[in-house]
Amino acid sequence: MIRRGKDLLTLTPEYRSRWVCFPCRKMFRKDPGAAAVVCPQCRRPMIDMGCYFETPAQSDRKMWSLLQRLAEAGYRFRTEENRATFYAPDATGARTPSARTVMLRMRAWLSKGGK
Ligand SMILES: [Zn+2]
Repeated sequence: MIRRGKDLLTLTPEYRSRWVCFPCRKMFRKDPGAAAVVCPQCRRPMIDMGCYFETPAQSDRKMWSLLQRLAEAGYRFRTEENRATFYAPDATGARTPSARTVMLRMRAWLSKGGK
């Protein structure tokens, strides 16, 4: 959603892109397409994962590692559909599926050539 300020156009916080540093397991919200963003902690370039990226707990190394695989395969969470591919509620109705569920969805997605 776009909110119009006096003279500037800004995105409401929930639609700002999630810029991620996988080595540090950190996320910052910035407008999509912002000029090269570097991680304030390690100074490595951050990746714009899209506004539908869900940031795992910093301690959830397994999920971060899975998401890094997706990022390296070029996957971004720019539409709700992208998010649903991996995070949609499962048959148990859990809002956040387990890492195993996400991993199985990733495997299925990768076996179809990432489509
Ligand atoms: Zn970093």
